[in-house]
Order: sequence, then structure tokens, then C-alpha cells
Amino acid sequence: MGKTILILGGGWGGLSVAHRLRGYLGQEHRVVIIEKNDKFSLGPSNLWVMTGDRQYPGDVERSMSRLLRKDIEWLHAEVTGIETENKKVHTSKGIISGDYLVISLGSELYTEEVPGFSENAYNLYDLSSVVRLHEAIQQFTGGKIIVFCSSTPFRCPPAPYEAALLIESLFRNRGLKDKIEVHIYTPEKQPMPVGGPKIGAMLRQMIENRGIIYHPEHKVIRIDGTLRKMFFQDGIDAKYDLLIGVPPHRAPRVVVEAGLTDSTGYIPTHPQTMRVLSNVETLETKLPGIYVLGDIAAITLLNSMLLPKAGVFAEEQASAIAGNIAALIRGEESNKVFDGKGICYIETGDGMASTGSGEFYAYPEPRILIESPSKEGHKAKEELEKLLTTWFA
Ligand SMILES: Cc1cc2nc3c(=O)[nH]c(=O)nc-3n(C[C@H](O)[C@H](O)[C@H](O)COP(=O)(O)OP(=O)(O)OC[C@H]3O[C@@H](n4cnc5c(N)ncnc54)[C@H](O)[C@@H]3O)c2cc1C
Repeated sequence: MGKTILILGGGWGGLSVAHRLRGYLGQEHRVVIIEKNDKFSLGPSNLWVMTGDRQYPGDVERSMSRLLRKDIEWLHAEVTGIETENKKVHTSKGIISGDYLVISLGSELYTEEVPGFSENAYNLYDLSSVVRLHEAIQQFTGGKIIVFCSSTPFRCPPAPYEAALLIESLFRNRGLKDKIEVHIYTPEKQPMPVGGPKIGAMLRQMIENRGIIYHPEHKVIRIDGTLRKMFFQDGIDAKYDLLIGVPPHRAPRVVVEAGLTDSTGYIPTHPQTMRVLSNVETLETKLPGIYVLGDIAAITLLNSMLLPKAGVFAEEQASAIAGNIAALIRGEESNKVFDGKGICYIETGDGMASTGSGEFYAYPEPRILIESPSKEGHKAKEELEKLLTTWFA
């Protein structure tokens, strides 16, 4: 008898698992994505829209209705409740039941938690705001530019650093280097804390060598647009002329209300099978047939930090989950695992990117190798965009 796999959230992870499942399963089985947005874009494209290297919307955004594989069903609805025991999903368009659930609802942005953010800062993680940021950068002729992170964790730990490096490169190439100052404010102790002190020092040097001024351990509490100032928890403030921020991230409310999250704010997830954990110490799992994918998953590493939230991990996790669901449906042994490995590309400007390869399950701490910026690194990052043509017409 045909089975139904419900994929909650049609972002990078959800689309990836849907396509893999369709490759494995016959037409008697249903693959259904429940996604509230009718448009899809990849996070890395935001940086290139900011610089003007990509045009919005044509280069970067696709309509969900243009999903190439017509055998993937898209339910355009909001998930409003999850009954984990009997795999029922409540949506704005009614209740739907599945034999397997893949929860890939990502992180939600809570911009309102920083008073003054939405009125005064460009949101690097919101494509429509980035389109306006591009215009602002075009007209900007001098002054102090601040890139800031509101809280941790946030998607793609290098992204705000990439934004600062790209902005520096843009103004330098316009002959305006002497007219601007680029600052980064973040509550983190160092860039990419999960990589350990050596990686942090290397990335810090990379940005400081370019004249970018780094202010770690600064948590913004409010922004005053009249004074053009940011205020921080430790009592200090900073003046800005152009402000670009990463808002607070949290799991979508529906996942919290379903009782799936723990003290990390996300769903405790088995590092290899991507099943929901009942015990983070012993790695015992619960809720058979339910899998967690991408940014919504809290995977605790051996150094007690969380696996970074990145699309490249979501894709690898999707591969393991799809393989295991397909095996279970066929009555075969399911033994695909996510191995905690991933490659990211850090845009450094001037058409270059550094390649960072990570083995996040290495003992006693993640093993990360960051190469010098190269044209090849940049090209490899651009390859990520091929997903748009793979998934959409
Ligand atoms: C500026 C920027 C640069 C980045 N660069 C990189 C990079 O270079 N490499 C990399 O690997 N990653 C990068 N990322 C991170 C990457 O985009 C995320 O890690 C990835 O999108 C995670 O996939 P996901 O499926 O878990 O979540 P998402 O892609 O966020 O998808 C979640 C989906 O769930 C939907 N949803 C949420 N709640 C509901 C609900 N209640 N009902 C229905 N639908 C719902 C959302 O609309 C969304 O479509 C970047 C991100 C940004 C913002």
C-alpha cells in the first residue's frame, strides 16, 4: 500500500529531502511538502543581491508552483499544530495525516525583540530588505557602516562576516575606501565559535587585515533611529550611518507548542539518524517515523556546542533521512547516517571565497580547515545556485 511522507517546511532542507525521496520511491507513494510561502530563494543569494551581482527576483527567487517534479505535492498552507503520536499535522487548510513526518521548519526571525531593528536596520536575512539595502549601498558615499548580530545561534555563522568583507571590497573598488568605516558588532566571543580559538583568530585576522573593526561580546538591546545609535547591554553605544543586522533566530512557535524543543530552543536530534532524541546523554530516540532536518535540529557536538545551521548540512541530512525512509518503506534495513561533514565557502570580495571544510563529529573537537581565498572557492559557492535549476523550471 502507498505511504504518505509529509515534509513540514519547503526550504533548503525540505526541498532537498522531497527530491531525494521522489528519486527513491514509486508513484504509489505520496511526497507532500507543507510550506506557507509561495516563493523560494537560497540564503547565499542575499549576499550577491546586496552587492548587485544578482538581480532580484529573476536570478534568485522561484515560485513554489514551478516545482519541476509534478510528483511532489505542495500544500500551500501554514503548519499550525503537530500531533507527534499519530503523525497528524494541523494546517491552515485542514488536518493531514502521514506515515512519516520530516520536520524541516527552519528558524523564525524575531526582529521585534530588538526595538528599533525593523525601522532602522536592513535585515541581511530577509531578501526584500536586502533588495533595499542594495539601493542604499549604491547611494552611500561615505560614513560608518555597521554589520551586527543580535544573538546566537544564527543561520550560516560566516554570513555577517562575508557581508562586511563584501562591503569593504565594494567601496574599495569604487575608490571610496577612505570615505567609509566598516564595523562588526556581535555577542560572540570570536567569529565561528564552534570552530575553536584557532579558527576564530584566523577569521578575525582576515577581517582586520581589511581594516574592518571587530567588536565581539556586544549584545544590542535597542536602536534609536533619531540619534542613529545602537545601544548595547554593557552600557556603551555606537553611532552609525548605515546599519545591517542579523535578527534573533528561534524555532517556529508551532514546534515549541508541540513540545518538541528543549533548553537549546530547538529539537534535540540524533547526530546520525536525525531522529528525535528522548535523552541527549544516552542518544536514545523516540517518535519512530519522525525525522528532524536542517536548522530546526539541535545537534550537540563533543565540545558541547551546537552544529552550525547551514544548508550544506541540511542537504547531507536530507540524504540520510530519504535513504532511511525509502529503506523502511521497502522493508529493508535502514542504515544511512549523517556524518557531520560539510564544506562552506566564505565570500571575501573581489570575486574570491575561502573554502572551509569541517568534520564536526571529530574527537575531541570539530576539525576545520580554512583555505586562503581563491577564485575557485567563489566559483564553488556559486555552484550552490544550481539547486534552483534542479528544483524549479
Ligand atoms: C545570508 C545567508 C547566507 C547563507 N549562506 C549559506 C551558505 O553559503 N551555505 C550554506 O550551507 N548555508 C547558508 N545559509 C544558511 C541556509 O540558508 C540555511 O541553513 C538553510 O536554509 C536551512 O534549511 P532549512 O530547510 O532547515 O530551513 P529553511 O530553508 O529556512 O526552510 C524552512 C521553511 O519552513 C517554512 N515554515 C516555517 N514555519 C512554517 C509553518 N508554520 N508552516 C509552513 N511552513 C513553515 C519557511 O517558510 C521555510 O521555507 C545562509 C543563510 C543566509 C540567510
